[in-house]
Amino acid sequence: MNGNVVVMKSSNCDAYEEMISDKSYTDDLFIHLLGKHRRCLMEHECKEILESIGVKTTGIQIALSEEDTVKISENIGYPVVMKIASPDVVHKSDLGGVKLNVQNDQEAGKAYRELVETFKNKEIAGVSVQKMADPGIEVIIGVTRDPNYGHVLMFGLGGVFVEILKDVTFRILPITEDDAADMIEEIKGGPLLTGYRGHSADIAALKELLLKISELVVQHPEISELDLNPVFLYPRGYVVVDARIFVDSVPQKQTTDHLPMKEDLHKLFYPDSI
Ligand code: ADP
Ligand code: MG
Repeated sequence: MNGNVVVMKSSNCDAYEEMISDKSYTDDLFIHLLGKHRRCLMEHECKEILESIGVKTTGIQIALSEEDTVKISENIGYPVVMKIASPDVVHKSDLGGVKLNVQNDQEAGKAYRELVETFKNKEIAGVSVQKMADPGIEVIIGVTRDPNYGHVLMFGLGGVFVEILKDVTFRILPITEDDAADMIEEIKGGPLLTGYRGHSADIAALKELLLKISELVVQHPEISELDLNPVFLYPRGYVVVDARIFVDSVPQKQTTDHLPMKEDLHKLFYPDSI
């Protein structure tokens, strides 16, 4: 596979199915991006990588026209979500780049036009059209790469829990199955996941997701940052709603003679907060 690794996914792309089953796809994509000095993967590119390792996402289809948008939306079934796909736009909703709950062909066409108009001064790769996920318990999974400790995994409840309560936990990668179970149990909001007033999440699926992310990053040390935010958890299964990955050439690992304190790891993700 060469040269065409960043092809846009459009509605009927059989070659694409072959592409994601190719194990070297992620390697090729990273080499390509590093060669082009692009560091941040777009959401659909991240989700392509995730889907290729069996992680469930809200979808990776890219529309290149209004007509395309309607076709893809009808295929998925309304309501859908539409988002700008641009290498220049990292925080999509801050800039008006996310249209939720698009209900019909007319709204889909209008949303396409609005997104293209809003971002007319940016490089636009297309418009991502995806399934509108059912509400679930929101969690976040993050990875950052520290020169001393290597890759560090963060897990926590999303929304207000992470922003205000900082209810998150960390492990140096790779993690074991026991680590994944401990991470889920040790956050203060853990009971929300394991069963509280009828809310509960599929713990087995969540553990598997954490392990898959650990494995992905261990196999691809060029990942300097990874952010699944949010992931919706359900009583059965989960879905990754948004994903971001940054890549960089792998630095020489520095040695350290002490194990990190929790505060040290926290600082890696929230440099200004402590
Ligand atoms: P941003 O780049 O701003 O983080 P997101 O893709 O996370 O953009 O979208 C912002 C918010 O919109 C998400 O936190 C989530 O609440 C909601 N959202 C995004 N995509 C979907 C989807 N496919 N289904 C349901 N809700 C979604
Ligand atoms: Mg997000």
